[in-house]
Amino acid sequence: MAEQIQPIRGMNDILPAEVGAWQHLERSVRELVTAYGYEEMRVPILEHTALFKRSIGELTDVVGKEMYSFESQGGESLTLRPEATAGMARAVISNRMLRGQRHKLWCMGPMFRYETPQAGRYRQFHQVNLEAVGFAGPDVDAELIALTARLWRTLGIERVRLQINSLGTPESRRAYRELLVAYFRGHESSLDADSLRRLEGNPLRILDSKNPEMQELVAGAPLLTEHLDQESRDHFDALCGMLRDIGVEYEINPRLVRGLDYYSRTVFEWINESSGAQNAVCSGGRYDGLIAQLGGEPTPGIGFAMGMERIVALLVQAGQLPSPAKPDVYVVLNGERASAEGLALVERLRNELPRRRFEMNLGNGNFKTQFRRADRSAAPLALIVGDDELARGVVGMKPLRQETGQTECPIAQLAQGIEAALASLGCA
Ligand code: ATP
Ligand code: MG
Repeated sequence: MAEQIQPIRGMNDILPAEVGAWQHLERSVRELVTAYGYEEMRVPILEHTALFKRSIGELTDVVGKEMYSFESQGGESLTLRPEATAGMARAVISNRMLRGQRHKLWCMGPMFRYETPQAGRYRQFHQVNLEAVGFAGPDVDAELIALTARLWRTLGIERVRLQINSLGTPESRRAYRELLVAYFRGHESSLDADSLRRLEGNPLRILDSKNPEMQELVAGAPLLTEHLDQESRDHFDALCGMLRDIGVEYEINPRLVRGLDYYSRTVFEWINESSGAQNAVCSGGRYDGLIAQLGGEPTPGIGFAMGMERIVALLVQAGQLPSPAKPDVYVVLNGERASAEGLALVERLRNELPRRRFEMNLGNGNFKTQFRRADRSAAPLALIVGDDELARGVVGMKPLRQETGQTECPIAQLAQGIEAALASLGCA
């Protein structure tokens, strides 16, 4: 046997048994975001590396060590998208969608980051992204958060809580940054290697450190919330008021800084209590400077990304899954003529009853084998197409989950006969 080719570490196959949960999530998301007026937009998975460097920031973990970048045949540096906001912002600019217009957009798909794979952290993972561009908020901030809260209710996910914070404007953040650097400089010997590296380039990220030994030092650091400019403070207070009005509970986490450079003002994260360092299920924030930074006309924006693998895991944990699809009718074929004519008969039934699922026995097999397959399919009804029956212009019908006997139905009335039989079996 030839040597097997291994899958890429951290990149998962989603098997048929799990796909039901994914489809359930995708369906729920699509319905909900459409009801909130978001329009789907699809953007490429590959972009110029420069897009991510310029938007996410060179000193972030994502750009610094997690990107899948390579040179194309034409010598361009391209990158598999590690997140969607940059590409969505790029697309809004490239397609001249701005010009004073506002858009509520969403997309869904795979993202790629070279991280250490572990439960809830993969190298190819999937996100749902919402982006509202042209809205200065805070009303849109509150509405986006309301949408996420409603999604958890729709999906039956209970153990998630909301943390919010404001990062202020780049100007107020600059002043705060100096205070922060001064504080950490005073404790330089207690900083771990990552934090030392961040001290110069991106000191706010030290607040986001996942190292338990850094927690005490981080807890003593000056708080960004105490150094906000007045407009950002008003924006944040208004957001908090709206969340209270609609009954969405939140915690203010003054150390929530988020890992990407483009955020300003509102940032938020939904955290699941039970999954350790992989506990963020949905993260987002305002990026008022991003579009200008990418060469578009200055336009405010806010968005978030949900990690679909992490949400699917919560759905599975909560047992909140729709039952897997099963056929309505399993078609058993018995004899030479039946085998020859079976497919045409089933195709005709599929025309007449497009809503019904037919599973025809494939690859022959004796009567017993075929009934075993019919049983395993979990269909409530079997059709028995046999030479003997065909000669008499009928087809046999047998309930598979009840002890009722076999009946016959004229081929000319088969569609009605199947509907009636299924209805009597409770499969309307
Ligand atoms: P984390 O702190 O867990 O690394 P992050 O801040 O890097 O998350 P974002 O870039 O904000 O995450 O991405 C949004 C969401 O995407 C996260 O809240 C999480 O649910 C999910 N996510 C991020 N990275 C991964 C990954 N490697 N595998 C699976 N899901 C991920
Ligand atoms: Mg990360």
